[in-house]
Amino acid sequence: MLKIVQVTTSCKDCPKRRYGSGGQYDCTAMDNAPLPADCVIPQWCPLPNHPGKLAAEAIAKADNTLAVTRQLRDAVASGNGSVEWTKSVLDQAVLDLEHWKNQMSAGA
Ligand code: SF4
Repeated sequence: MLKIVQVTTSCKDCPKRRYGSGGQYDCTAMDNAPLPADCVIPQWCPLPNHPGKLAAEAIAKADNTLAVTRQLRDAVASGNGSVEWTKSVLDQAVLDLEHWKNQMSAGA
């Protein structure tokens, strides 16, 4: 299996950019929509965002979830940890995971 990853930080470097006419470049990925003269990638660009930042956040959240799980396991094993404390730890973990899921969905 062959995979290609390309990173574009400017329309100028994108293979979807084509010369239109009169000095104007167009985006073939968007039905030849005219591109900004400064080549800054417009908000309407259909290319997905680079996953690097999201992947780093996912790893950080996984680490946090692992730490919370270990806290709960240790509390149960030692007989410590009230129901209120356990609920507050789990509530925070759920909030963190929901926030992360929303960010991943928005970035996908
Ligand atoms: S808008 Fe996006 S797809 Fe179109 S040329 Fe620019 S970077 Fe490429």
